[in-house]
Amino acid sequence: MKTIGLLGGMSWESSIEYYRIINETVREKLGGLHSAKSVMYSVDFAEIEALQHERKWEEATRLMIDAARHVETGGADFLVICTNTMHRMAEEVQEGIGIPLLHIADATAMVIKAGGLSKVGLLGTRFTMEGEFYKGRLIDRHGLEVLVPDDKGREIVHKVIYDELVMGVIEPNSKTQYIQIIEELVSMGAQGIIMGCTEIGLLVGAEDVTVPVFDTALIHSTAAVEYALGDTELSSQ
Ligand code: GLU
Repeated sequence: MKTIGLLGGMSWESSIEYYRIINETVREKLGGLHSAKSVMYSVDFAEIEALQHERKWEEATRLMIDAARHVETGGADFLVICTNTMHRMAEEVQEGIGIPLLHIADATAMVIKAGGLSKVGLLGTRFTMEGEFYKGRLIDRHGLEVLVPDDKGREIVHKVIYDELVMGVIEPNSKTQYIQIIEELVSMGAQGIIMGCTEIGLLVGAEDVTVPVFDTALIHSTAAVEYALGDTELSSQ
């Protein structure tokens, strides 16, 4: 079994989920007392959030590379960055370390394509919904059509993530707003919804919407176990 390297703390509310899902999945697959071999380096999210909103991406990239090196030094065989947003600098992080990175958008795209879907809605932070690093990868590398909410919808989705979800706050009103935004994307032709922020699964579940949802924290954690156990190869296509 390979040792899974987790770069967590973005936020720790979802890093906990990664740790739980990874260990539950190993137990399901191997049985008995088996659990995952893993190391986690967890950052201070206040520092990350400040750099994001001040658009200090170079400094954020240096911080991420440094954190990823801690994961590698800790004995990881590959890297899992436990957030969608901070895949913005995934390429630079990969260049800065000697172990492979399991990209969250690639893992998600594989599951979407395996389900036969080609047009999906994307919810996440503004950085994820508006930047090319994520949407562009889904479109160019994976041939998916990607819809995002309108500006007002993106503002609501972003604000709920930073003001509530990363602090473990779950508000019924925010859930209602998310469901409305999702249904708008469905009416525009989305066959499924990427929950492209690792905390959204804490608010909305498959039972709340009429199309399949792709919870990136769940998909990424499961993909990490499959790779760690040698069931899959790393692939970006
Ligand atoms: N966990 C979130 C994500 O998946 C947002 C936190 C962050 O900005 O990293 O994008």
